[in-house]
Amino acid sequence: MTSTPLSIQAASCADDYDPNSMPVAKAREFIARFLSPVSAVEHLHIRAALGRVLAEDVVSPLDVPAHDNSAMDGYALRFADLKPSGEVTLRIAGSAFAGVPFQGQMHPGSCVRIMTGGVVPVGADTIVMQEHVVAQDDSVRIGGGHQQGQNLRRAGEDLKTGQVALKRGRPLRPAEIGLIASLGIGEVSVYRRLRVAFFSTGDELRSIGTPLAEGQIYDSNRYTIHGMLARLNCEMIDMGVIRDDPALLEGAFRVAAASADVVITSGGVSVGEADFVKDLLDKLGEVVFWKIAMKPGRPLAYGRLGNAHFFGLPGNPVSVMVTFYQFVRAALLKLSGLDPVPELPSFKVPCTSSLKKAPGRTEFQRGALTQNAAGEWSVRVTGEQGSGILRSMSEANCFIILPETQGNVAAGTLVDVQVMDSVA
Ligand code: AMP
Ligand code: MG
Repeated sequence: MTSTPLSIQAASCADDYDPNSMPVAKAREFIARFLSPVSAVEHLHIRAALGRVLAEDVVSPLDVPAHDNSAMDGYALRFADLKPSGEVTLRIAGSAFAGVPFQGQMHPGSCVRIMTGGVVPVGADTIVMQEHVVAQDDSVRIGGGHQQGQNLRRAGEDLKTGQVALKRGRPLRPAEIGLIASLGIGEVSVYRRLRVAFFSTGDELRSIGTPLAEGQIYDSNRYTIHGMLARLNCEMIDMGVIRDDPALLEGAFRVAAASADVVITSGGVSVGEADFVKDLLDKLGEVVFWKIAMKPGRPLAYGRLGNAHFFGLPGNPVSVMVTFYQFVRAALLKLSGLDPVPELPSFKVPCTSSLKKAPGRTEFQRGALTQNAAGEWSVRVTGEQGSGILRSMSEANCFIILPETQGNVAAGTLVDVQVMDSVA
């Protein structure tokens, strides 16, 4: 559990924001103040640690590479034996393969056949590629134009003994797992996975496998939330659909808060519905209800239920995904121990569609980034942008982010895009 004492009320009074028109950046900053990573640590074999977050620095117990070794297949020799221009002939004294070092003495005037990764023999200071020599029986002819120290990887060049190879807070991807293995380390300390409980609210919602009566719809938010949490490697507690009934909701909030680090709900935070949910959450914890100056995703609730963080997302399926990407994702990564929390890649590209936009809110339109035959990237909007239309998310691979002050966008204008393909 996180330990930051929280008084949302106090913090919100101290701030001069308007909860009825909360800027996206302000809401993010506000949430960030209350996030401290899980403290529990597990020791795992590096294979099992994939996707986890390092809880301790990994310190190198050895020099990497351990010895001076060759970067090429060729010949190890003394630079002093070469002529700046013109040829010399050196006797081949033996060979050094990767893992099988040369055991003899390399006297002046001789060289050692060496393969990539082979330990450089004592006395040698330069490697000449095999393509640059003429080999004949037990000697080689080598021309001029070489540099002392060429093609040689020095001991400790990548990492020295005692140096930090990976810092606490780093995510363990295949590259990090390989790096740790290359140090001969088999176990690492990682933060325990974040526990997230989630449920959908709404009398109109039915679960898959149940026929729909008039006015009912299938619950899809629980599945998108499940998918996004799985991508973030969270431990999940799926609590199903909870009807808009104060007693049932109170029970669900209590169970969720007692069993998870984070509670996420969808629906029930819009005007009209918010009133009774608000009373309930006031009773169970400290929660602020915002109307964020954004589209889609206007209503959002954030706070604490007992020791758990609470995110009350809107009900509309696209709003759920947008608010998750824009607020929940970074919060969960921070709570999981990631330091720094990686930003989703974002950059400017020309937009081939013209976009309708009124100033006053940040808009997150769904975009498809594509490359033309000349290799240039541009973005187009993915059809109907209604906040209930999941197809526009499904066809998108990025958000087109239009800032609060922005008005209509003419086709061809540069716009900010944020890549959404991976949540993490
Ligand atoms: P609400 O915020 O609860 O008023 O919901 C806003 C809209 O989103 C309504 O049209 C709901 O039917 C729809 N909605 C709410 N929850 C879900 C859900 N879990 N899956 C699909 N649609 C939902
Ligand atoms: Mg509802």
